[in-house]
Amino acid sequence: MADQTFVIAGANLTGGRAAEALRKEGFDGRVVLIGAEPDPPYERPPLSKEYLRGQVPREKIFIHKPGFYEEQRIELRLGVRATGLDLQERAVELEGGERIAFDRLLLATGGRPRRLAAPGSDLDGIYELRTVADSERIAAQLQPGRRLVVIGAGFIGAEVAASARMQGLDVTVLEMSPVPLGRALGEEMGRLYGEIHREHGVELLTGEAIDRFEGSGRVERVVGASGRAIDCDFVVVGIGIEPATELAEQAGLAVENGIVVDEYAETSVAGVFAAGDVARFYHPVLQERLRVEHWANAQNQGVLAAKNMLGRREAYVEIPWFWSDQYDLNLQYVGHASSWDEIVMRGDVAGRKFTAFYLKDGRLRAALALNRFKDIRPSRELIKLGVAVEAAKLRDDGVELKSLIPVSE
Ligand SMILES: Cc1cc2nc3c(=O)[nH]c(=O)nc-3n(C[C@H](O)[C@H](O)[C@H](O)COP(=O)(O)OP(=O)(O)OC[C@H]3O[C@@H](n4cnc5c(N)ncnc54)[C@H](O)[C@@H]3O)c2cc1C
Repeated sequence: MADQTFVIAGANLTGGRAAEALRKEGFDGRVVLIGAEPDPPYERPPLSKEYLRGQVPREKIFIHKPGFYEEQRIELRLGVRATGLDLQERAVELEGGERIAFDRLLLATGGRPRRLAAPGSDLDGIYELRTVADSERIAAQLQPGRRLVVIGAGFIGAEVAASARMQGLDVTVLEMSPVPLGRALGEEMGRLYGEIHREHGVELLTGEAIDRFEGSGRVERVVGASGRAIDCDFVVVGIGIEPATELAEQAGLAVENGIVVDEYAETSVAGVFAAGDVARFYHPVLQERLRVEHWANAQNQGVLAAKNMLGRREAYVEIPWFWSDQYDLNLQYVGHASSWDEIVMRGDVAGRKFTAFYLKDGRLRAALALNRFKDIRPSRELIKLGVAVEAAKLRDDGVELKSLIPVSE
């Protein structure tokens, strides 16, 4: 394959891990990794946590050591956007007009923050958080006593609120839904997270949408749909991301809330793959179409796509997993539950060291462990195997979770 060119559009976690995997798997042709950002692939999770709080130096966030791309003969093209995809000629066009012909292509273009249409959104002092530059802009605002309003209590909003409280800021969070994190965790766990933030001094306004921002030049006030006005020094908007599908759409690939791929991470066109935050894939174990916006998926699906670009035909069967750190609480969640019959609790709920099991039709769909990560691995096995589990045994801390996993012959 030495005369072949594999192109990867999008140079963050998915693209970076895919390029690395191509070499690990022995590909000796040309690898071109194209990234719109000026930085080589880096980790986003610290951007709302340790990096935002100034506890991690910049050089620690990159996924590879300096010199890695040269050593591996990976052509890293940074600060340049792929603007066109020609499936007839099998070429990617870059800003400026350069065309790169490919034998295989991976679209790893991820997502970008959703924008608010509220009046005043263009005032200074209103930030979004996706890139390291965004995180640095917000970090410069994190001085004790300043007043921050966070719009949206998803993971990014909740983590920024926690980091800002930990730095001694006054924090108000506006969330349209009745509870924070409700979309990902459900009402019950969302309510608990609401309590946690309030205990840490966050003013959490739920059921409150944003109406407008006010200020002269710079934001001074956020006005909610109820008419409530909150004075502030700056704002962080975290209302989710949208997948960056424009290359795929323009080329006529199937797109439906993400680039549609099969379990091999291949799009509707042979030899063109998509993975990570931008990909919508069929999960053969969970029997659902998913688009997952989490670190482990980006990393694992990037590697799998690379193997399949080399013709391996491996199906993606990883059970989704993510974590979130807020205050001194580590949340880990494995599986995917969009609906459930009951949530069964194990451990010390009041002491915030417990696992919540999401059960549907007598089977485990997901598990959320708060400061109790030891339950994640056996839960993953139970979800993967899809075996019937008794709620009473899940609830009983005396029963080892491992003992519920059937022994294979
Ligand atoms: C602040 C923050 C905190 C997070 N914390 C956690 C966490 O605690 N736990 C967890 O599991 N997950 C977390 N995540 C999610 C995780 O970081 C993402 O799932 C992961 O970064 C997705 O990687 P990706 O490479 O698929 O997409 P992205 O990270 O979005 O990268 C895509 C890259 O492609 C580039 N690009 C897009 N279009 C083009 C184009 N046309 N040409 C060239 N380049 C292009 C973009 O500029 C970007 O650099 C967090 C995310 C953020 C933003």
